[in-house]
Amino acid sequence: MNTLVWFRNDLRTADHPALHHAARRGPVVGMFLDAIDQWREHDWGDNKIDFVRRNVAALSASLAKLNIPLRIVDVPRFDGSPAAMVKLARAMRCDALAFNDEYEVNEHRRDAAVAAACERAGIEVYRSADQTVVRPTELRTGSGGPYSVFTPYKNAWLKRVEQMEPITALAQPMKQAKLDIESDAPRGGEALADRWPGGEDEAQRRLTKFIAHRIKAYKDQRDQPAADGTSAMSPYLACGAISAKQCYLAAKDLGGEGAATWISELIWREFYRQVMVHHPRVSMGRPFKRETRAVRWRDDEAGFEAWREGRTGVPIVDAAMRQLIATGWMHNRCRMIAAMFLTKNLLIDWRRGERHFMQHLVDGDLANNNGGWQWSASTGTDAAPYFRVFNPLSQSARFDPDGAYIRAYVPELAQVEGDEIHDPLPLTRASCGYPMMIVDLKSSRQRAIDAFANLRT
Ligand code: FAD
Repeated sequence: MNTLVWFRNDLRTADHPALHHAARRGPVVGMFLDAIDQWREHDWGDNKIDFVRRNVAALSASLAKLNIPLRIVDVPRFDGSPAAMVKLARAMRCDALAFNDEYEVNEHRRDAAVAAACERAGIEVYRSADQTVVRPTELRTGSGGPYSVFTPYKNAWLKRVEQMEPITALAQPMKQAKLDIESDAPRGGEALADRWPGGEDEAQRRLTKFIAHRIKAYKDQRDQPAADGTSAMSPYLACGAISAKQCYLAAKDLGGEGAATWISELIWREFYRQVMVHHPRVSMGRPFKRETRAVRWRDDEAGFEAWREGRTGVPIVDAAMRQLIATGWMHNRCRMIAAMFLTKNLLIDWRRGERHFMQHLVDGDLANNNGGWQWSASTGTDAAPYFRVFNPLSQSARFDPDGAYIRAYVPELAQVEGDEIHDPLPLTRASCGYPMMIVDLKSSRQRAIDAFANLRT
């Protein structure tokens, strides 16, 4: 009998616990469920969907080299997964199903339903953990609860990996004997295909390049959006073309300050996953800080549209929002600036921004996106204090000092010289066809502080 391996957001063959263990059991058949309606309900946009499909196509090619067929089945909504799984397992002569855990609420419920259906049908189920280096449920505070502050979490995480040493990545399984089962033709996907090619080989190539050339300067350059200073591994981590463990090991082996800072970012990713696991309400559109449910967000359609389209009149915000549309990705510093501008200066509900990001990001990831938005909106775990509102102009002068990032994405301002790039004069704006600011930064900052301060009185 064969084992069915269900690939989801772990689209690779190396360091893949479910595949590794299944292959030791006997012949393997791979499976991917294309859940288009559910993905759309989860706000996945074309950039992410096409990227996932390109990675499925690359996975199919990697598996073919191991003689493992990949069946791709359209199951538009998760509630169709249990029946589809049992049917496919029977048709493929599989007496076991193996998969790696996912932690979002709907995915978790789907997996429980699939596991129950398989067990009822006499199909054994093997579940593994692979999304993080340290499992989300593994670390507890002194009082036994989950962590809600990053620094103590990070310290506990570093201590745990020391105890876990040696940490190793699992090998790709050996080539198996050919089965008489054909792979389905993968769909692929065109959106942003040149910028974000799919596949674990591509992910490894990018990681190797980053480790060889850029990680040493990461600590100094990671906050400068004009520099190619970060890894841009997030899309590959989000769809699992590479594992967190593979990234961690590559950086750890190199050592040094740049690598330590980069590992710290990987730990943020794990931190937000453990927040989501222990507080599932955050992935159901609710704030972590319950008192912030009472914030009176503004209805401002015109402001929201201007923000989405990158015409707020704040150059760094507009550059960021246009980078998102043009590339499906945004630099972390700019994600914070753009999110803080929406939730504080415009006082628009963070859930609207979270949704817009998800609809366009190629690296859209519920835990990270939600964590980032709730941080910026001061509603989340270890969030920015509500009275510390970024001034987007000072952020711009500090992190994009010569305006190279703004010029790259706001071509109207390309000829503006010197520091004026951060806040062009009215005459310059008029002559460049660039809008005036849609909001007064000083009074809107105070309005946001008042909206939060009043919650506590
Ligand atoms: P690097 O700096 O090279 O970091 C390496 C990896 O660490 C990243 O690929 C990512 O997996 C993780 N990481 C880095 N920074 C963070 C962080 N602050 N929080 C959690 N994990 C982090 N990240 C996503 O992967 N998907 C999202 O949908 C997402 N939405 C965000 C929304 C907002 C409002 C904010 C403020 C941040 C968001 N982030 C998101 C986190 C972060 O901006 C991106 O992970 C990062 O910019 C990706 O670029 P990189 O791969 O070059 O990161």
